[in-house]
Amino acid sequence: MEKIANFFKSFLLVELLKGMALTGRHFFARKITVQFPEEKTPQGYRFRGLHALRRYANGEERCIGCKLCEAVCPAMAIHIETEERSDNTRRTTRYDIDLVKCIFCGLCEEACPVDAIVETRILEYHGENRSDLYYTKPMLLAVGAKYEEQIAKDKASDAKYR
Ligand code: SF4
Ligand code: SF4
Repeated sequence: MEKIANFFKSFLLVELLKGMALTGRHFFARKITVQFPEEKTPQGYRFRGLHALRRYANGEERCIGCKLCEAVCPAMAIHIETEERSDNTRRTTRYDIDLVKCIFCGLCEEACPVDAIVETRILEYHGENRSDLYYTKPMLLAVGAKYEEQIAKDKASDAKYR
């Protein structure tokens, strides 16, 4: 009996008609494909994009060179060197992130006690060779300066869940 049913199914192209009906339904349905880059998908305030180093409002660097971010980074993408200043505070002399190694896990941001290293919402950047994606301290500070307003807003949105 099952064999006969299968024969008629094949003979009448039932599966093919089912497939065509499905295609037809989606053909007229509202399209959900996003036309990037003209259209953007919504981003959460925890979006993990390009890194930035932040300063306080008075211009002082937030980073205190504790190296927690370097220690926690699973990709060993961060390299930090520090020195003690004349006022006995410690600051970095070198802070590099190799974005080719980085897996954008966000652990550096989580580990930072002073919210110095953060991941911004920026995802549209590129490098034409490997060295373009090796971000040094001045480059990271420049990203932080440019996007501080958005970074501060995102941090404030996230604060109630911390
Ligand atoms: S996001 Fe993750 S992999 Fe990238 S630098 Fe931070 S800790 Fe390392
Ligand atoms: S960015 Fe934060 S965790 Fe990393 S060295 Fe500076 S203060 Fe420490």
